[in-house]
Amino acid sequence: MDKRDFLKATGALVAGSVLGCAARGEQPETTVANSAPAADAGTGATARTNWAGNLTYGTTNLQRPATVQEVRAAVKAAAKLRVLGARHSFSAIADSTHEQISLEHLTEISLDEKARTVTVGGGVTYSQLAPWLDSRGFALHNLASLPGITVAGACATATHGSGLHNGNLATAVSAVEFVIANGDLVELRRERDGERFLGSVVGLGAVGVVTRTTLDLQPTYKVAQSVYQGLSFDELGRHFEQVFASGYSVSVFTDWQQHRAGEVWVKRRLQPGDANHWEPELFGAKLATVKLHPLAGHPTENVTDQLGIPGPWYDRLPHFRIGQTPSGGDELQTEYFVPFDRGFEAVLAVEKLHNNIGPHLMITELRTVAADRLWMSMAYDRPSLSIHFTWKPQWPQVRQVLPLIEAQLKPFAPRPHWGKLFTLEPPLLEPCYKRLPEFKKLAAQFDPQGKFRNAFLRTNLYEA
Ligand SMILES: Cc1cc2nc3c(=O)[nH]c(=O)nc-3n(C[C@H](O)[C@H](O)[C@H](O)COP(=O)(O)OP(=O)(O)OC[C@H]3O[C@@H](n4cnc5c(N)ncnc54)[C@H](O)[C@@H]3O)c2cc1C
Repeated sequence: MDKRDFLKATGALVAGSVLGCAARGEQPETTVANSAPAADAGTGATARTNWAGNLTYGTTNLQRPATVQEVRAAVKAAAKLRVLGARHSFSAIADSTHEQISLEHLTEISLDEKARTVTVGGGVTYSQLAPWLDSRGFALHNLASLPGITVAGACATATHGSGLHNGNLATAVSAVEFVIANGDLVELRRERDGERFLGSVVGLGAVGVVTRTTLDLQPTYKVAQSVYQGLSFDELGRHFEQVFASGYSVSVFTDWQQHRAGEVWVKRRLQPGDANHWEPELFGAKLATVKLHPLAGHPTENVTDQLGIPGPWYDRLPHFRIGQTPSGGDELQTEYFVPFDRGFEAVLAVEKLHNNIGPHLMITELRTVAADRLWMSMAYDRPSLSIHFTWKPQWPQVRQVLPLIEAQLKPFAPRPHWGKLFTLEPPLLEPCYKRLPEFKKLAAQFDPQGKFRNAFLRTNLYEA
């Protein structure tokens, strides 16, 4: 039995993209490891698995250059190469069967107070950056649910937080410097480079190895967070926009059971002198009086403060605190973006599958992301509702449920998160990304031989 047959027989192939590879007779780059999370949850990948442990990388060849010059030399010398960030993607997007490069040693941070920008090296994580900025009086516009991911890796997949008026994290990028396939260094600026810039920022690791990213800043601010419990789906439907407008960043957590949305996590940005008053009810949901974890029974010390206690932006906008285990650890994740104005329709379409979803689900989170102009972003040109699933580590069962969800969401042209698991066939992905043909042309300018292309990109972008 060859490796692929063995994996098929054991149901052990992992991401949708990899299933796609197998179906097309291409050797998958990724196999499922045992599902225990990797011990090293930071950057560096001493363990050769991703953070969740659901995939073992297809190469043991990992380079860790110390300077931009060394990155350039490594890229030039490599035949095939993928950059690795903090290994937090669940999909095989960062995988390679040849070589990976980690920029974990490129950790410089430099502030331009006058321009209100910060420039970070390719290995810098939000955990490193955010307190550093705050201590100097600055802040970012938003953060993801966890801070322990690299700026470059997050922007490459259009990673996002929540907020009706908040673009994904990559929308803060004003300049990006990257090493292209021949080892040359390219810099693109928002103000100067127009469409080429917009095409490169959410680069999926396909345009080059990002060595520096410049981000827009704003003066630091405080945020207070509270949770409301017991929102019904009926109330969510009646007040869909108002629920998501009840804070600067709002998440709705649901288990899809009993026609009940569940918890609403409201993060409010405080202005000096704000009363910081929280009404006891939000559309029938009750203000929580104890701190909660999104996953029932998990330790709340990992979670950022709630109960309306004000704190720094970086210790409230993410759900999980710096240095603590985010989410559950032993899990899988999936997320689809649909148009916000049809968001509740999409929610009801998924709810029909509550019996299929329930046994394998840890929790679902609904968030909003403002429309942007970044070609490969899931929120490109479309204010979005994101429907996220944290699954139990039961890939054989979850992979049976994903096509059902994707079928229900088909009328909404769902865009899957590049860093999470999906089974959507590439021909269905293509119409969702109007700029995909231009993105492929742009990537070919920087990488004519496909040095940065792996099985995930070949399957999902190039074989449709
Ligand atoms: C517990 C948990 C919670 C999460 N919460 C959220 C959330 O709230 N919102 C959300 O949107 N996502 C979330 N994610 C997904 C995660 O944010 C994304 O998958 C993100 O891309 C991971 O960044 P990373 O630094 O780990 O990069 P990796 O996963 O290592 O790599 C991701 C991609 O970036 C590319 N890349 C990395 N570094 C560079 C570089 N220097 N130059 C060019 N390309 C590069 C890689 O090649 C790959 O294509 C979560 C994941 C986990 C495990």
